Amino acid sequence: MSSDVLKKTYLLKGIGVSPGIATGKAYIFNRSDPQISFYKLSDANLVSKEIKRFKKALKESEKELLEVKNKLANLEVMEPLYIMDVHIMILRDKKFINHTIKQIKEMSVNAEWAVGMTIDKYKEIFALVEDDYLRGRFSDVQYVGQRIIRNLAGEKKEVVNVGEGFIIVAQDLSPADTAQMKIERVLGFATDIGGKTSHTAIVAQAIEIPAVVGLESITSIVHTNDDIIVDGSSGLVIVNPDPEMLIRYKDKKKDYQHIQEDFLKDANLPAITKDNYRVEIGGNIEFSEEIPSAIAHGANGIGLYRTEFIYINREQLPTEEEHFANYRRIIGINGLAWSTIRTFDLGGDKFFSDPKLAHEMNPQMGLRAIRFCLKEVDLFKVQLWAIIRASAYGKTRILFPMISGIEEIREAKKIFCEVKDELLTRGIPLGNDVEIGVMIEVPSAVMIADKLAREVDFFSIGTNDLIQYALAIDRINERVTYLYEPLHPAVLRLIKQTVDVGHEAGIRVAMCGEMAGEPACTMILLGLELDELSMNPSAIPRIKKIIRETTLEESKELLKRIMTFSSSVEIRGYVVNYMRERFPELFPPSNLRAACP
Ligand code: PEP
Ligand code: MG
Repeated sequence: MSSDVLKKTYLLKGIGVSPGIATGKAYIFNRSDPQISFYKLSDANLVSKEIKRFKKALKESEKELLEVKNKLANLEVMEPLYIMDVHIMILRDKKFINHTIKQIKEMSVNAEWAVGMTIDKYKEIFALVEDDYLRGRFSDVQYVGQRIIRNLAGEKKEVVNVGEGFIIVAQDLSPADTAQMKIERVLGFATDIGGKTSHTAIVAQAIEIPAVVGLESITSIVHTNDDIIVDGSSGLVIVNPDPEMLIRYKDKKKDYQHIQEDFLKDANLPAITKDNYRVEIGGNIEFSEEIPSAIAHGANGIGLYRTEFIYINREQLPTEEEHFANYRRIIGINGLAWSTIRTFDLGGDKFFSDPKLAHEMNPQMGLRAIRFCLKEVDLFKVQLWAIIRASAYGKTRILFPMISGIEEIREAKKIFCEVKDELLTRGIPLGNDVEIGVMIEVPSAVMIADKLAREVDFFSIGTNDLIQYALAIDRINERVTYLYEPLHPAVLRLIKQTVDVGHEAGIRVAMCGEMAGEPACTMILLGLELDELSMNPSAIPRIKKIIRETTLEESKELLKRIMTFSSSVEIRGYVVNYMRERFPELFPPSNLRAACP
């Protein structure tokens, strides 16, 4: 068996029937399968006992199969005998056995669960086999695996807490199904079938866990133990999310949990300080399904639409019409004053469907985003055509990611103009006030911001990458997270320089990195005079509340003070204390780090 196959990310759209976000491991609930119990082994002693138990179940299964084979020996046809031989071979297969033992050891889980994982592993491998007949042989592995599980269960009959601590993935869930679960320990539901009034929906609402139903084929895509995100608010399920997406959803989840009723009540009040400084508030989205939530949380517009998901999880590249349909669901929607569409920001690690993007050792600094677009102009044009066409329906801003030098923005603008001219020649209606912006997320862009400002209508500071590149910290490497600090003096200087230069040139400066949605940073960003803050929708109510309860003057004072400090530790300590005293209800002491990650 090959080592771990790179897991493919899937985005599935169903019906969100119970709001909230669950992130965790999937558990495939299948009524016809023997129930697979799950429990952790607390010490090494139990692990070796469990391996012995597994080996014993193997022997018993083999004995049973040999008995069946003997009974069949008198038959005239040989086919069933061959099948029995194949099954016995699988039972003795070293890779099958070793993989299961490895799971028991490494995950400290019971043998039934480990066998289930091995079956899932084989399922993945067989799915890659081109020949139909050979691919169908997976059923033999499944058959043998289930026999072993039944033999294991023979020793330990009771089903232990089905689905505890997991997200249950099933075709559908009947009252009988949920009755056998420790339901209060389940994290979420995702089912193939069902509607708003299905049992799954009712149970999920009652126990307040996120649920998405009507996903059609989720049970054939997900394997037990896959990472999975269930967003019951937008009806989306993401299987095997990439690490950044997982982090973002974990943040969304945290924010969702923190939102209190009274924030939502005031969510639509404008973000204006007591001394009348107005900040535009945008929502960051990845899917058009998130728009109702963005509006409900108080977004004035969309400050960042990450378009990457239009591309991944598909065999063919998206057509212009598919792009257009996506943008039409956003641009000009009631309740949104503007929409910022970021052209795609993909690197080889995310873009499974296209061989042109080779696997790169260091994709964060590789051929991604605008660099890739300028190499694959035809592909880039398809997206631009669609965005410009959609601009006929409402205020549109186009944002180019990862700009590191002036040539890139000039080249991107040239292509934009070519596309626009082509559309005009064809007599296709388009918006006449499309704005062009660059993401400021590479330190070199800050250094030449005065030059860039002459080329564009606005800047949007992407602190997620800017911090990563300025401080040389991989944003998804948890071993260096402690160094990932938006309040680092270098980061603050980079932001200040960008805003000052942008304003001198008379253009708007927005921020769409996660820092924009961190309550601890809000007064600092106000002091820096950002014109727009765009963030995860669920963070908006809190940020707006802070803005409404302070003044520009007070924020500038705070900024002035912290700009004299030389370390991020000093700055964080000072700002957090300040915010805690100033907004005690928003910064409960026990939750301080969570509120300002
Ligand atoms: C950023 O880098 O801050 C940003 C908003 O873009 P992304 O997180 O998509 O890289
Ligand atoms: Mg970025």
